[in-house]
Amino acid sequence: MKDNIKNLVGQIMNLPSEDFQELLKILVHGDHQAPLQLEDFVSGIKSAQVYKCPYCGNTHIVRNGHRPDGVQKFRCCECHRSFVPMTNTIFAHTHKPLSVWQKYIGCVLSQESIRSSAESCGFSIGTSFFWRHKILSALCLMEENVGLEGIAEGDETFFPLSFKGNHKAFACKEASRAPRKRGGEVHTRGLSKELVCVPCAVDRNHRSISRIACMGACSAKALGAALDGKIKQGSTLCADDNAIYRKFAAGNLLNLVQIKGGRKVVRGQFHIQHLNSYHSMMKKFMRKFQGVSSKYLNGYLAWHNFLNYAKEGIDEKARILKEWLVNCSQCVRIADISALPKIKCLI
Ligand SMILES: [Zn+2]
Repeated sequence: MKDNIKNLVGQIMNLPSEDFQELLKILVHGDHQAPLQLEDFVSGIKSAQVYKCPYCGNTHIVRNGHRPDGVQKFRCCECHRSFVPMTNTIFAHTHKPLSVWQKYIGCVLSQESIRSSAESCGFSIGTSFFWRHKILSALCLMEENVGLEGIAEGDETFFPLSFKGNHKAFACKEASRAPRKRGGEVHTRGLSKELVCVPCAVDRNHRSISRIACMGACSAKALGAALDGKIKQGSTLCADDNAIYRKFAAGNLLNLVQIKGGRKVVRGQFHIQHLNSYHSMMKKFMRKFQGVSSKYLNGYLAWHNFLNYAKEGIDEKARILKEWLVNCSQCVRIADISALPKIKCLI
């Protein structure tokens, strides 16, 4: 080792613990500045890429003056339409500066309630609800790109069918039952049609996938609809001894290890204990919201997967989320949120 490196290592080892942590952060993340504000983030990301027309995808575009609030406008030379960097993202049409979005994203990352996020950002509870669901729909889209590999664990979990905040839905066929108390037990024993089935899978790299598949017991078809193609071919799937996993593993070219004799059984590195702890984290997360309506459950599942199960630190998650929101081309409107079906089963 060269002398100058030896000296440097000596100095680093003598640093006080706080300074050492700070240095470590800089070396790992390459970022020693305060977290970027969303405005800088939008212009930084967009200028680092070749600008594309959000309407026709053409790259032949020109600058076209500024909006009254100072935002740069562009015009496409192909379709002649005008746009700004936020066009066709969830920030479009919200009539609020990006600094407010920056604050709201912070509220979502720290799992604040809709009411307290509204107070922090200085707008109505309705706007807070709508913005939360805009972000959750973007997170669902992010989860579409998640793939598992290596050793994966799979199992289903169930949530009571809930029409929270949507009581007109009680008139529908699925809800032809007496209401139950919030968080109460379902009325039928076993895996009745009052339970929403959510197949889940996690890998050892802390990536996770979960989404509503069907009502009641999970069939091979429902499992396939939720997880087909999500686990890389040749990976190993650990699951319980339910026959649906044999069909799923064969169809997806996975090695299957079925853990017979209970959830606590460990066969070397093959077990489903990560999944068990994932399930208990998930239920705890949902309890915080006093039960989630089945209509919005997929969004909350994606939120949990991103926030609680992914292994990145909170600063890195903030960066990933902002980058995704700027780039994911998803312009959700209030009408899209209210038009979501009462429950979206895959089969
Ligand atoms: Zn165009």
